[in-house]
Amino acid sequence: MIYWDHNSTTPCAPEVVEAMQSFWNKEYGNPSSSHLMGQRAAAAVRRGREQVAALTNALPAEIVFTSGATESNNLLFLGVLLSPQSERKRIAVSAIEHKSVLEPAHLLEKHGFDLVKLPVNGGGVTDIESAQQLIDEEMLLVSVQTANNELGMLQPVAELAEIAHSNGAYFHTDAAQALGKIPFDVQQVNCDFASFSAHKLYGPKGIGALYVRGGARRWPWTYPFQGGGQESGLRPGTSNVPAIVGFGKACELCGSSLAENSQHLNLLADQFIKMLSKRFPRAVVLNRRRNSLPGTLSILFEGIPSDLLLARCKSINLSKGSACNGVMEASHVVKEIIAETNRQEAVVRISFGKNSDNEGFEQFFEILNTLDQEL
Ligand code: PMP
Repeated sequence: MIYWDHNSTTPCAPEVVEAMQSFWNKEYGNPSSSHLMGQRAAAAVRRGREQVAALTNALPAEIVFTSGATESNNLLFLGVLLSPQSERKRIAVSAIEHKSVLEPAHLLEKHGFDLVKLPVNGGGVTDIESAQQLIDEEMLLVSVQTANNELGMLQPVAELAEIAHSNGAYFHTDAAQALGKIPFDVQQVNCDFASFSAHKLYGPKGIGALYVRGGARRWPWTYPFQGGGQESGLRPGTSNVPAIVGFGKACELCGSSLAENSQHLNLLADQFIKMLSKRFPRAVVLNRRRNSLPGTLSILFEGIPSDLLLARCKSINLSKGSACNGVMEASHVVKEIIAETNRQEAVVRISFGKNSDNEGFEQFFEILNTLDQEL
């Protein structure tokens, strides 16, 4: 099986699996227990928190573990929703956010908030000039992802944070796709909140974090979840120790091999594009490579419906876009940058991973050309 869908999820690195191993049935203490086994589990959680903090240049106390980026995003928006005392009632998100930001934002809209969608340009980048006009002093929260999951395009988050702050608004970034793939530094971005997910960077599924500037003590809203003191009360519930250990290890590994991995992924993507231009010259690479995630290619295969292409690629696992959308039609992201329906439905995302090589390239181009001849 060839796997070109690393933006959807990644395999756990062997070192991650190894690090987690003993925490299932040997070191199984509850980190909230005061006895020795509890203390050992608490030490493992502490270490995991330090490792996530180190990769993001945060303080350990600013890392709040959650079940993943979907929960981190929801936690933030629900906090806002449950705090009617705020006088500001306007929030802004980019038009190409992941559904786990867009839908909570729509929920706020249903409850009386004014939702502003920041437009993106034809290249899939949030337009700064429009943002400057749309973000005003009524704005409570601006949320723009660091890297788009479908196009891979990096967003101007530091500039957007600056615009938000100059209007007295908070700035959040969903950095699920960025963490471990490109340098991500909460100080450089100057965000107030950031969402992360371990399974995008060779860690386990079901664990992630919300970065909260200043830690839970500085959380400006009501805590949406109640009933426990874990994660400083902001995210109560027994800590998932093995997953936290795995997440920490994944951060450590990705941090130390970030440059090497991104160089490998860029070379591989270059090689793919070079072959593609010869074997299927009608293809259009939608993302501007220098400003996108290494190894992510969003490609419009002019005249080839993506559903047909994907169905033919039996031993090559790739996708049309976000797995989380779960729908057959073109995604809201593709619709944002391509107007014609038949072209929207010819877009495929290829996301290589650190263990990918050119195996499958020939096979893919043959499938593509056979299909083209049949159509
Ligand atoms: N945000 C983005 C940008 C994503 O790509 C994803 C995963 N597709 C998520 C959020 C959701 O992350 P998780 O699977 O950890 O809930």
